Amino acid sequence: MTSTTTTPAVPEFPAGTILGYPRIGPHRELKKALEAFWAGKTSADDVEAVAAGLRKQTRARLAGLGLRTDVPAIPSAFSFYDHVLDTTAVVGAVPARFADLADADGRLDLAGYSTVARGRGDDLPLEMTKWFDTNYHYLVPEIGPETTFRYASDRPVREFAEGLADGVLTRPVLVGPVTYLALAKPTEGAPEGFEPLDRLADLLPVYVDLLRDLAAAGATWVQLDEPALVSDSLTVTPEAVRAAVTEAYRVLATELARPDRPAILVAAPYGDLGAALGVLAATDVEGIALDLVRGAAPTVAVKGLTSKVVVGGVIDGHNIWRADLDTKLQVLEQLETLGAAQVAAGTSTSLFHVPHTVEDEPALDPTLRGWLAFADQKVAEVVTLAEGLTEGREAIHAELLAAGDAVRSRAAAPGVVRPEVRERVAALTEGEFHRGPFAERRSAQAARLALPPLPTTTIGSFPQTPEIRKARAAHAKGDLTTEQYEDEMRAEIRRVVELQEAIGLDVLVHGEPERNDMVQYFAENLDGFAVTQNGWVQSYGSRCTRPSILWGDVSRPAPITVAWTTYTQSLTTKPVKGMLTGPVTILAWSFVRDDQPLADTANQVALALRDEIEDLEAAGIAVVQVDEPALRELLPLKAADHAAYLDWSVRSFTLATSGVRPDTQIHTHLCYSEFGEIIGAIDGLDADVTSIEAARSKMEIIGDIAGAGYARGIGPGVYDIHSPRVPTEGEVTELLAEAVRSIDADQLWVNPDCGLKTRRYEEVNPSLEHMLAATRAVRATL
Ligand code: GLN
Ligand code: ZN
Repeated sequence: MTSTTTTPAVPEFPAGTILGYPRIGPHRELKKALEAFWAGKTSADDVEAVAAGLRKQTRARLAGLGLRTDVPAIPSAFSFYDHVLDTTAVVGAVPARFADLADADGRLDLAGYSTVARGRGDDLPLEMTKWFDTNYHYLVPEIGPETTFRYASDRPVREFAEGLADGVLTRPVLVGPVTYLALAKPTEGAPEGFEPLDRLADLLPVYVDLLRDLAAAGATWVQLDEPALVSDSLTVTPEAVRAAVTEAYRVLATELARPDRPAILVAAPYGDLGAALGVLAATDVEGIALDLVRGAAPTVAVKGLTSKVVVGGVIDGHNIWRADLDTKLQVLEQLETLGAAQVAAGTSTSLFHVPHTVEDEPALDPTLRGWLAFADQKVAEVVTLAEGLTEGREAIHAELLAAGDAVRSRAAAPGVVRPEVRERVAALTEGEFHRGPFAERRSAQAARLALPPLPTTTIGSFPQTPEIRKARAAHAKGDLTTEQYEDEMRAEIRRVVELQEAIGLDVLVHGEPERNDMVQYFAENLDGFAVTQNGWVQSYGSRCTRPSILWGDVSRPAPITVAWTTYTQSLTTKPVKGMLTGPVTILAWSFVRDDQPLADTANQVALALRDEIEDLEAAGIAVVQVDEPALRELLPLKAADHAAYLDWSVRSFTLATSGVRPDTQIHTHLCYSEFGEIIGAIDGLDADVTSIEAARSKMEIIGDIAGAGYARGIGPGVYDIHSPRVPTEGEVTELLAEAVRSIDADQLWVNPDCGLKTRRYEEVNPSLEHMLAATRAVRATL
């Protein structure tokens, strides 16, 4: 018997596409619109108008760059704040504490959506955490057995319709159901062992409704992002993710048949699919997008692939270097031999991890600019490769040559390889990665510093006041001379020192007023780096960062922090802590050259810092802190890659810090509380004192520290600086008392969770006073 129903042919898919595009606007228009709305200066309609304008501009831009508009090459992937929060809004999974913000249909307006993201009073916002191995942070969904899912927002449909009315057939992009649940955390009251992924069957009907609506609106393809497939660092196992993917796409692809739903492209950015490719290929989805920058293309036929569109993500969505298009075309040609129904050129990830366009960087050295591809240039690369696929290699001959020339020009350019830097790294001996025994250091430092028990300190920065920002801007514009600017910064340092002395802190800092950013400041003062004017990328919500570009061999032309630090030390008899950013963090928060192993680049940065630390020591500074808040952030997604990463990252830190005498105290600061997870690395850093976040988790890490038998100095943050809330003396006393019950008081330092630069003095002064009062109270009990 033959079946009488036939599946309609798969709708046309373009030869080139991108997985997503920056949403914040070339001049951070969305950020400005949102912040004006939050400040009560504009209405939600004003923000909607700005957003619609940006979406229209993006569609026109992408079409102008050559992406097709008659088939779905242009993604519809806007977000006001975060795409995971958008999914929460679409599926109606607003946490109970915010339930009142939704209307009877479960829908949030822009004000409600913003409140879920930012919190109100005692209702904490959704937790924010790193999106895979990027610097982007998403809002963690809270899913419990009681969570009700419903199709609460048709925003993706409306935005698709908006594009269509504008003459552009877009491809709506959504977080896939498996990744959505795999990234969620259980609600507070959820029973032990409950996993949000257990709720998959209840969530899928919402996706079914949404897909049906999208098809009715005319969408021919939809993109569902399932990066959970490339990670084995989630709370759920890779096996559970794969099983869930099989089930989810059985339901989505077969329970709703085309044309009642669009064709489905499942994208797996941020890594290698490995065995998960076979799982995806075995489903009935119509397309798969592979990350061929982090991952490798399959070399043997994969069952199920012959009926699918495969997007070869050969253009790096994660970094800013122009691609060698010839090599990329070869990868796509190899992919074509595997027999997929169609191979398309694409990006490895969404492009929202890179800035909009190199054209907006007139101040960059033109040679360097010629090596770079921001989002728009990457779109052009995809379009070129697509033409190569459809018209043949000859059709893009000139572009292939030009791209190859750019890569060769970069390799040969002065500064990219500097023999004196290479020789220094090559000549390193094992001894330069290690300090002497801790016991000896401890007694030498105790004798030199003569600190009280439970020494108090801060993490480095003090509030960046409007006056500081104004002075920096005036200096950049030339309205303040360098001398005037530095005078103002010294005046600020004097105020910060006086304040710390008045409060009674034991180890003082200069407050970092002269630093715009803890990485860019060093990038501006080291050779091998460039900084951009408009190279903003979204970090979370309306927050953007402007990563520096590490393009060449790194060295330190002159001391960077020594004058500021010795000036500060001249104002006080208390020890002043020199303040540097560590090699791993400098790499993590920059766009880093891709032509040599990260470990080599890290060692070059480490040597520059080592020189700086030795100069600080020679100038009489007894304590130096080297911040590594990003140490865990760069941790690879696959457990198999952890050891190699931790090895080079920890070694670069010890290379930077091991040149000092035993009586010089090295501190480090880590910005998270997963002490237990990377205790091996923390131990490997061999810092004399480590400060770490602890207040939000109510000192839970104390158990990990005690359990690990960690013997060096440790400062678990006693209050959360991420919130404007001033802690009471009583609650800090309680946390400290708890700490001294489990940890040797000799080891314990007292400090806030992180730097104070985003806070106001109205919050900082009483908070530090309470911290000191609590310390005195607990000292009295010792
Ligand atoms: N020293 C830096 C500061 O206090 C550390 C910041 C961070 O950990 N991100 O601002
Ligand atoms: Zn921090």
